[in-house]
Amino acid sequence: MVGERDGLAGNVPPARTGGDIFRSDMALTEAVWREAGSWAMEDCSALGVTCGQPETIELGFAANENPPVHVVYDRGGRRVDAAEFHPSWHSLLDIAAWHGLMGRSWAEKQQGAHAARAARFILLAQVEAGVMCPIAMTYASVPALRMDPTLAEVWEPLVASVEYDPRPLPGKQKRGALIGMAMTERAGGSDLSQCATVATPVGDGRYELTGTKWFVSAVASDAFFVLARSPAGLSCFFVPRLDEDGRTNGFRVDRLKDKLGNRSNATAEVELERAVGTLVGQEGHGVRAVMAMVAGTRHDCILGSAAVMRLGVAEAVHFARHRNAFGQALVDQGAMTGVLADLALEYEGAVAGALRLSRAMEEAAAGNAEAAAFRRIAAPVLKYWICKRTPAHAAEALECLGGQGYMEDSRLARAYREAPLMSIWEGSGNVQALDVLRALHQESGVADALLGELQHARGGNRLLDAAASEVTGGLAAGIPDEAQARHFAGLVARTLCASLLVRSAPTSVSDAYCETRLGPRLSGAYGELPSKVEAASIVERALPESH
Ligand SMILES: Cc1cc2nc3c(=O)[nH]c(=O)nc-3n(C[C@H](O)[C@H](O)[C@H](O)COP(=O)(O)OP(=O)(O)OC[C@H]3O[C@@H](n4cnc5c(N)ncnc54)[C@H](O)[C@@H]3O)c2cc1C
Repeated sequence: MVGERDGLAGNVPPARTGGDIFRSDMALTEAVWREAGSWAMEDCSALGVTCGQPETIELGFAANENPPVHVVYDRGGRRVDAAEFHPSWHSLLDIAAWHGLMGRSWAEKQQGAHAARAARFILLAQVEAGVMCPIAMTYASVPALRMDPTLAEVWEPLVASVEYDPRPLPGKQKRGALIGMAMTERAGGSDLSQCATVATPVGDGRYELTGTKWFVSAVASDAFFVLARSPAGLSCFFVPRLDEDGRTNGFRVDRLKDKLGNRSNATAEVELERAVGTLVGQEGHGVRAVMAMVAGTRHDCILGSAAVMRLGVAEAVHFARHRNAFGQALVDQGAMTGVLADLALEYEGAVAGALRLSRAMEEAAAGNAEAAAFRRIAAPVLKYWICKRTPAHAAEALECLGGQGYMEDSRLARAYREAPLMSIWEGSGNVQALDVLRALHQESGVADALLGELQHARGGNRLLDAAASEVTGGLAAGIPDEAQARHFAGLVARTLCASLLVRSAPTSVSDAYCETRLGPRLSGAYGELPSKVEAASIVERALPESH
């Protein structure tokens, strides 16, 4: 007989495992249907099943409990500057490559390949966030690789490969590759003009790079896009970690950083000592070249945040269904139902916005100018808002599990540590909000593309119409000043997400989103829903009881 000490009896909810975490996520399945198409459902479902399995979930725990180790020398005394990972890390990257999370969608012909990949990203990121860093950078590297056809010819097939190949070999001998980026230095990450790494031409078209990079994540990657100062100014270089003979290419790992979260991932301080690289894009226009990659990593930060929200919603609803307090299941008690519904609403808006952005990215890459203008503003708007809302969301979801939520074996403790990172890297909150203003100021068509998108939902909700008018009025009055940047970015983000929900979600969801995110009730805290909101049906949709 199972007793109290086995943890299964009484009032302790069972772990949420099994099933298909894609099909049980209505907001995500509907977004894939909308932004990709029916062809994508099976692929997503296959990964959804894998991510629900206890063995896969265990890989996420193991990768965090066994963080990477800095290996300076190999057994023969040769300097290798490597990071050694637990097998669980490699297994997770195997799953990612097999399911096409790295560069595959750039090679796929189906419309919606990027939105479908975004959904699969959200699924795997719920298992473990650390591995999503090399996945995101590798995915995002393709537009930057394509700036140099010779580079793209060698590296794009490796990046698009469905084979994960961790062997430390020169690129030409690999079956799959990971790509990272090294921009941030001690003097500045947001302000890249502080970059002091020097690139010296060696005469054969290549350059030698010397300097210190303060944050280099996924340091075991096969190559990096590196920012350095060449004679013509700040430039971008492609630097393989190993040279063509398999020796380290002037790439010295000083130490692995000790981080709050994201512990399975190796983030290093790196010394470049005459590392040989090739110029990407125009010399002196390095920031523009690097931004070709950063557009993709910012997109994936939004997906990573959506994944933290989804995990929180699903774990919290599951727990509240199986936990009684004061004689009743928590899920049925008004104050808790409201918190769960509000957490679910935040995810609904985030996932709708995220996958709409994925579609815009794909259309922009195919040459659609209007999509490019929309993407230009939607990316910083959504990165600012969704990533900023996630840490508080993670804390609230964790609290739904009471003391158990604070325990390391709850899954949510790790998600809580992960949440602030999405907002910091790839452009922190202020930087994103200021980028919204920059986009409006410098790039034609951006304001029209945004207003055109909002127009599609006109007449669908009174509060949405009022918010869209506020955005329009704000733009007509001139671009807001820096002190108003966050307020404006937040308003645009909520209005955009609301407009997507009004067009696509059940009315119970879209009305509640508008009421709580656009009306006067927005307080910033979760769970303060007006009583007219249909909280129970929103919770049931968030995690159907049959799943
Ligand atoms: C775990 C982790 C992994 C990372 N991995 C990588 C990597 O692989 N490669 C890489 O290149 N970098 C990496 N980074 C670095 C990351 O991108 C930077 O930390 C980030 O861009 C912020 O730069 P910073 O740390 O220099 O802070 P700063 O630029 O000094 O910013 C400090 C604060 O000032 C704000 N701020 C900046 N400018 C303005 C302004 N004009 N007005 C108002 N406020 C402003 C910022 O929003 C921030 O809140 C990583 C960081 C972390 C935490």
